Amino acid sequence: MSEKVLITGGAGFIGSALSLGLIDNGYSVVVLDNLSEQIHTKNYENSYTYQLIKDRVEFYSGDVRNLEDWKKVLSGVQIIVHLAAETGTGQSMYQAQNYTRVNCEGTSILCDILTAGNHSVRKVILASSRSIYGEGKYMSNDGKFIYPTYRDESKLINGDFEFYHENQKLKAVATDEFSLIQPASIYALTKYYQEEMLKITCKSQDINFTGLRFQNVYGPGQSLTNPYTGIISIFSNRLKENKEVYIFEDGLESRDFVFIEDVCQAIQIAIKDNRLKQVVFNVGSGVATSVIDLANHLKRLMNSSSKLTITGQYRLGDIRHNFADLTNIKNSLGFSPKVDVMEGLSRFVEWSYGQEVKCDKYDDSLKELRERGLLK
Ligand code: NAD
Repeated sequence: MSEKVLITGGAGFIGSALSLGLIDNGYSVVVLDNLSEQIHTKNYENSYTYQLIKDRVEFYSGDVRNLEDWKKVLSGVQIIVHLAAETGTGQSMYQAQNYTRVNCEGTSILCDILTAGNHSVRKVILASSRSIYGEGKYMSNDGKFIYPTYRDESKLINGDFEFYHENQKLKAVATDEFSLIQPASIYALTKYYQEEMLKITCKSQDINFTGLRFQNVYGPGQSLTNPYTGIISIFSNRLKENKEVYIFEDGLESRDFVFIEDVCQAIQIAIKDNRLKQVVFNVGSGVATSVIDLANHLKRLMNSSSKLTITGQYRLGDIRHNFADLTNIKNSLGFSPKVDVMEGLSRFVEWSYGQEVKCDKYDDSLKELRERGLLK
């Protein structure tokens, strides 16, 4: 008999792609998702990712904050992939209560279920985030590893966005799983809290736990309407309409963009692996791409006449650089990403042209940050 996987947040970007991949590989999939308006809009029946899965999985509309909803979906489940979450770094800075309730309280209910017994769960996989490292790992000129915290605001105001140690500029290096944990936003803190809660609980119940710390996931199916996540969506919406694109800092800040298929590949490998008990892994492309390079690639691929404007503004809680060291997941699980950023972006662009975005709320989201003193 096929194994049954419960995916919370399975109607979202990662969850929908994972659901389809698992079904193709013979798993049976049950999804618990509250079809959050911020992701799926009020008219969720038209949500691209919900449409993908609604007739393929056993779907339950419900909330991870509600014990009764969890109880409805657990029958016969061997594996839980916990993806449901509030996901906007900037938004989390002024919606601490909401982020804590969904991400921490939701996960605490799962912990209670796991310890109550009377279930068939043998493994839990959590979508964690690279944001828990904050800035991640840097190296000084004399080869020392340094984990910087916050940037000096007097430098930021003057347009100097890099990190310094003893007046020397630091170089960002790949962040491994042994790097210091230094969440710089409420969102990041909730992701770390989820990890620790599940690690402790699963260990006590002899349930396998794998935390996967995703870098910036992108690709077909990512929300084009949620203005709080995903610069690739934000940029592409504006480029499509030849509107000016605003780039924070000096554009040289960098991220690790990992394609959706590679993320689903990592989750599926983690599902299949039965050797590991309580582990965490980075999942990324392992490559740093600057935001200005990303915007230029997208502009070219979309043949857009948009002006790219480097604003020099910066958001509190944002990091400067972070890219994944994949040594651990390569050695332990045999994972390596297959889609590079140029191929991934062109597949994203091709998909996004078939999607209609009725309203672009990005300007409103910036206004919210500015009003709260979080965008300088
Ligand atoms: P998404 O917003 O597309 O999907 C999240 C899903 O969770 C949505 O379908 C939403 O309706 C559902 N949801 C939200 N609140 C819920 C609640 N209270 N109860 C039940 N369902 C709820 O996000 P995604 O990009 O697919 O991210 C999935 C997971 O991966 C999240 O935990 C996120 O923190 C993590 N992650 C994502 C990225 C990324 O770049 N996409 C990076 C790091 C970590």
